[in-house]
Amino acid sequence: MDAAQGLVTDLRRAGVEHAVAVEEGPTDSLGAFDTSISYAPEVIVDAERPDDVAAAVAAASRAGLPVVAVSTGHGVLADVSGGLLISTRAMAGVAVDIDRQTARVEAGAVWADVIDAAAQHGLAPLCGSSPTVGVVGYLLGGGIGPIARTYGFSADHVRSVELVTPADGALTATADDQAELFWALRGGKGGFGVITAVTIDLVPLTHVYGGAVFFPADAARDVLSTMVDWAPELPESVTASVAAIRVPDIEQAPPPLRGRFVVHLRFASTGEPAEAEDLLRPIRRLAVPLVDTIAALPYAQIGSVHGDPTAPMPVMSGGAALTTAGQTVVEALLDVAGPERDLPVAVVELRALGGALARSPATPNAVGGRDAAWNLFASAAPVPGIDSATRRDAVRAVLESVRAWRAPTNLANFVGRANDAADLRHSWTDDQNERLDAVRTASDPDRLVSFDAPDHD
Ligand SMILES: Cc1cc2nc3c(=O)[nH]c(=O)nc-3n(C[C@H](O)[C@H](O)[C@H](O)COP(=O)(O)OP(=O)(O)OC[C@H]3O[C@@H](n4cnc5c(N)ncnc54)[C@H](O)[C@@H]3O)c2cc1C
Repeated sequence: MDAAQGLVTDLRRAGVEHAVAVEEGPTDSLGAFDTSISYAPEVIVDAERPDDVAAAVAAASRAGLPVVAVSTGHGVLADVSGGLLISTRAMAGVAVDIDRQTARVEAGAVWADVIDAAAQHGLAPLCGSSPTVGVVGYLLGGGIGPIARTYGFSADHVRSVELVTPADGALTATADDQAELFWALRGGKGGFGVITAVTIDLVPLTHVYGGAVFFPADAARDVLSTMVDWAPELPESVTASVAAIRVPDIEQAPPPLRGRFVVHLRFASTGEPAEAEDLLRPIRRLAVPLVDTIAALPYAQIGSVHGDPTAPMPVMSGGAALTTAGQTVVEALLDVAGPERDLPVAVVELRALGGALARSPATPNAVGGRDAAWNLFASAAPVPGIDSATRRDAVRAVLESVRAWRAPTNLANFVGRANDAADLRHSWTDDQNERLDAVRTASDPDRLVSFDAPDHD
């Protein structure tokens, strides 16, 4: 019996029903969002309950095997080769506590699960732009969503984290218990243990005033130039970003946008509709939009503000936080990725930060990049015939074009495979990295639980 089969036998004895040895080569049985990641673990555990996770982490520790936890596969940054993979997909329960305005969310849940459960009670979670992203992976990296300038990083609203660490087994970290681990888990990304559930705040919100405005390519310079002056002046009730998008010429693309270069304003206000309408005037008057959906929007449809892709695809993206974005940044971005450039970059997005994002929460956490003014994100299109190195270089060219304005720390969730390997650690200051490493050493002395830098080769 080989080692993997032996481990599976041990796990079955420990009551883990769904543990399999991966016989040969990479598997796509996980159905991960990012299809460019190769998954070739030795053993896969489809965890159905926290005890399965505890047994799997204990068995991996005994065998000295690396452990990677995956829910949706939106954010794994390096190929998985060997070791034990714990899929949390089957643990997707959400329990809303109406009185406390919180939700206990199991590790395999995606934001849509929480949005739907909370909406029934007039409540909303501080989700990201895409409802199909996993709650736990997102919160580990801090998390900025469509109403982030009103409420801050989503990780600022985590009440407790239930996890299994190689050093101590199952435990719950809160502001009062395991306080240092609790600090690290909210923004420190990985390498601490395998999370089984989180309890998060919900906010009383049924609607935002928001949506999308798509402008044609010839308005790109005007929209971007106005945006960089306009967005920093917006009240905290408004969160906005702008993306230059090369919409593919495919049937699924809406007809007015299909095959075109468009500029997409993403806008969500938690304030009064009349105020939002006033605030939008300087942007809306720049050009006749191709599409304008801004209206009272049920929070259950918050994903339509960004309209992120939901079908699995080979992701090649990168991010960089910026200290400022003036007209020189706009010119640099247009120069490298404007409408007349022919490059395989599908999306170049500038998200305005500030507002509540700049304030530390009452219980401080490990979120880095709090002082940044903007986040730049670029993602390459999976164009047939264009290899991944070309796509990576195209994203890197966008990030490189604004190097002079890059903030000292990135936003961890936006560091992608096109970033430099060191960019993930650059999501925190040296002091924060030292503190995070000390937590990792205490909770996972043999560094078995993955904390992967971008790896694209
Ligand atoms: C389309 C898209 C839209 C996005 N929008 C936003 C956005 O608006 N704001 C934002 O901040 N980020 C955004 N992100 C980034 C996203 O938050 C990260 O990629 C996040 O890591 C995804 O988490 P996941 O659980 O879905 O993915 P997974 O790939 O399953 O996990 C990502 C990482 O978290 C770790 N992890 C997952 N589950 C556990 C667990 N139970 N215990 C310990 N570690 C675990 C994994 O090991 C992995 O390293 C977006 C990403 C995509 C692809």
